[in-house]
Amino acid sequence: MSDTIRRTGSCLCGGVHFVVTGQPTRVGLCHCKDCRKAGGSVYSAFAIWPRDAFETSGEVATYGTRSFCPTCGGRVAWVGDTEAEIMLGSLDVVPTDLAPEYELWISRRETWLHALPGAEQFEHDRPRAEDADPPAPRPLSDAVAGD
Ligand SMILES: [Zn+2]
Ligand SMILES: [Zn+2]
Repeated sequence: MSDTIRRTGSCLCGGVHFVVTGQPTRVGLCHCKDCRKAGGSVYSAFAIWPRDAFETSGEVATYGTRSFCPTCGGRVAWVGDTEAEIMLGSLDVVPTDLAPEYELWISRRETWLHALPGAEQFEHDRPRAEDADPPAPRPLSDAVAGD
């Protein structure tokens, strides 16, 4: 459909481009160990689209389900069986029109950061009880992070 919103993004060097079509399923912030280590920043801001709404072009390298540009190392997406998680910072239009609705792993939030007003707060991962699907596979380091 021509009126369906399409957002474009890319890595730092431009070697990898992607398009996400339609509105994201949800938008969040995460302070977990994996997000910190993978991005090098103290939290990540991301949006999740159905897997089918995500298209990428260019060569990507992968680490588990995370993909990134092999040239500049820019993160492109976390791609699972049914969903694709896009870092908000990789989108081309700035600022984005997307705002996080929830925050994960808040016990790991830097002390100089504050809860985002209006965002639902979760101690760990987002509970998935509201959907009948089994939880998405998470890296083991997330599951055992105890602090
Ligand atoms: Zn790149
Ligand atoms: Zn995380």
